[in-house]
Amino acid sequence: MLKSRRTLSIMLALALVTGLFAMAGCAKTATPEPAAPAETPAAPTYTLVAPGVLTVGSDTAFPPFEAMNGSVAEGFDVDLAGALAKEMGLTVNYTSQKFDTLIPQLKAGGTFDVIMSGMTITPDREKEITFSTPYIDSNQSIAVVKGKFSQLDGNDAAAINTAFTGKVIGVQSGTTGEAWAKENIKGAKQIVPFDDTLAAFSALNAGKVDGVVNDLPVSAYLLKTSYTDDELIAEIPTGEQYGIGISADNPDLKTAIDTAFDTLKTSGEYRTIYMKWFGVEPPTE
Ligand code: GLN
Repeated sequence: MLKSRRTLSIMLALALVTGLFAMAGCAKTATPEPAAPAETPAAPTYTLVAPGVLTVGSDTAFPPFEAMNGSVAEGFDVDLAGALAKEMGLTVNYTSQKFDTLIPQLKAGGTFDVIMSGMTITPDREKEITFSTPYIDSNQSIAVVKGKFSQLDGNDAAAINTAFTGKVIGVQSGTTGEAWAKENIKGAKQIVPFDDTLAAFSALNAGKVDGVVNDLPVSAYLLKTSYTDDELIAEIPTGEQYGIGISADNPDLKTAIDTAFDTLKTSGEYRTIYMKWFGVEPPTE
C-alpha cells in the first residue's frame, strides 16, 4: 500500500513535470525516472508431474503433428511443445499414449501435464478439461483406395452417406472423425474404431475397410508420404481447431502456456514451425 502510494506520487510528479515542459515548448528532457527496484520474477504457481519438465501426453502416430522417428517424437506439435517449454524455462518429455485414454489420464493426474495430440477443442471435451488458445485449424476428410469411389462434395453429407451405405468405415477411436462418421454415415455397414490413424490406413490398404474418416491435414500428409495408392474423395469443412489440453485443476498452467504461445506468435517462431511442417505461411487471423 505504502509502496504503491509512493509510486503513484512519483508518477504524478513526473506527469506534472513532463506536462510543464511540454506546455513551455521546452526541449529539455525530464528528470530520468528513478530506476525501478529489481523485482525477482514470481515463481510459477502451476504444478508439474516432474519439476522443471513439461510432460506431454500424445498419440504419436499422427503425422505431421506427431510421429515417432525411432525413439524420438517429431512433428509440428513436438516443435511447438519444445518452443513453449523453452519460453517457460522448462524442458520437454513427450510421452506416447493411446488417443482415447488421453483425457481420462490427464484428469486422473500424475502421468503428464498437457495433451498435445492434434486434439480438437470440442464442447464435450471442455466439460472435462480446459484448452489453451487454439493453435491451428483443421477439417475432416475421407480417404479411399484410388479409383474405387468418385469425388464427393464435403458439404453434402447425404451424398456421402449414400456413397458409403453398406460399406465399412475406418476411424480412430475417440476422435472427432469417429463422431462425424457415426453422426453422418448412418447407412454404413460398420464403423470400425482403430487405436490410431496408421492402423486405420493399414486396414484400408488391406481391403478391410472401404474408407477412412480422419483429420484432413493428417490424411493429406499420409497420402503424400506413404499411402500413394489412396486418394481423398471428400474434404469436409468441420471448422475444427486444435488446442493443448490442460487439467481444469491447473489454471495457472493454462495462463503460462497461453502467454508463451502469444510470445511465439509475436516473435515469428510459430511461423517458422508452421512453415517447417506445412511448407506454407500460416493463415492470417
Ligand atoms: N483432431 C481429432 C480429434 O480430436 C483427431 C486427433 C488425433 O487423432 N490425434 O479428435
